[in-house]
Amino acid sequence: MARIMVVGSGPAGLAGALHLAANHQEVILVEKEERIGGSPRIYNCKAVDECRRCGACLVAERVYQVNCNPLIQVMTGCSITAVRRNNNGFQVELGGVPGAVSINVQGIILATGFDLLDPGIRGEMGYRRLKRVVTAREMEEKLMNAPGEWEEELGLMPRVAIIRCLGSRENSRGVPYCSRFCCLYSEKLGRLLVDRIPGATVDIFSMDSQRYHPVCATGDMGPVTYIRGIPSRVDRSHDQTLIVKYEDSARSIVRQGRYDWVVLCPAVLPSHSSQKIGDMLGIARDRWGFIDSVDGSTNREGVFAAGCCTGPKTILESLGSGQTAAGLLLTYLSSA
Ligand SMILES: Cc1cc2nc3c(=O)[nH]c(=O)nc-3n(C[C@H](O)[C@H](O)[C@H](O)COP(=O)(O)OP(=O)(O)OC[C@H]3O[C@@H](n4cnc5c(N)ncnc54)[C@H](O)[C@@H]3O)c2cc1C
Ligand code: SF4
Ligand code: SF4
Repeated sequence: MARIMVVGSGPAGLAGALHLAANHQEVILVEKEERIGGSPRIYNCKAVDECRRCGACLVAERVYQVNCNPLIQVMTGCSITAVRRNNNGFQVELGGVPGAVSINVQGIILATGFDLLDPGIRGEMGYRRLKRVVTAREMEEKLMNAPGEWEEELGLMPRVAIIRCLGSRENSRGVPYCSRFCCLYSEKLGRLLVDRIPGATVDIFSMDSQRYHPVCATGDMGPVTYIRGIPSRVDRSHDQTLIVKYEDSARSIVRQGRYDWVVLCPAVLPSHSSQKIGDMLGIARDRWGFIDSVDGSTNREGVFAAGCCTGPKTILESLGSGQTAAGLLLTYLSSA
């Protein structure tokens, strides 16, 4: 039985660890946060009458399976501080645990996820300057609170603007690539707000009608309205309403909308953490800074990568890539 380390416990790391354990391997799952589950830990179920296939419960299910699996040792609140290659694989030093911990493993899967662009660098969009301008992640966190709490905070019949592509597909002040999953989650978040709060209305601002996942194109949008235009500024009027100025792409004129909340969908970036561990291991990165990987393999023998540390992916894609990386690692071990 080989000892394998999986770094990061989001969908990719969980799926990788479970696949390895299902193949009788002993896995150490290292997570820097206190709880496992990765980013989806704070995503709400988007179902009202029927499942909207967001994938969040698939992650919760795998968290449960990992916690019950005797072959998977979960180590939370810690991270790799140093790695050395030895005759049998790698010697990994872990920080964050009481005392120094040094562990020998034969293979590593990196599943360290992504960072988001800090919307504060786009001061004109109001983030940090205006209280009711938040990121989609922050809105998910609010909705995780007890209903009484968020109902009071969001107010009666809130008018919500969701702004997609903040810093994505933008060469000058962001990243040129598409962040891939924000079309999907913004639509589901908008519909959830409308379903949960009587009288709420949601306008989703998008650059174009590009849709990356078939699931986005299904169903009745109801009181969610799509506006084709790029907001250029968010300000507050004297009555505390947020004013979103945008260029109406269809008519090439500048317009404005009045809202109570503005939700930003910032660009997905390579995580600092992935870059740091990648550098310790000598892992090559692509031109944007994500781990350079071909279907889970990296340029270093015995090191594999999965999920958003290799580029933006949905939950389902991340689960699949974790399993693929684990499969490659098993093949590597059997041939080593
Ligand atoms: C607001 C928002 C809503 C979303 N909603 C959806 C949705 O509805 N459906 C969907 O398909 N996708 C959604 N996504 C995308 C989804 O979050 C990703 O697909 C998914 O989280 C990627 O999984 P991952 O395992 O690659 O990374 P993550 O989930 O980010 O997990 C990475 C894990 O690695 C840990 N880690 C990082 N560095 C280290 C280190 N050095 N040592 C130890 N641990 C480390 C992190 O703490 C984290 O737990 C959403 C994204 C956002 C921002
Ligand atoms: S996939 Fe999403 S919407 Fe469907 S039940 Fe699971 S958490 Fe809810
Ligand atoms: S997934 Fe949609 S919102 Fe996100 S960057 Fe791509 S086009 Fe923009």
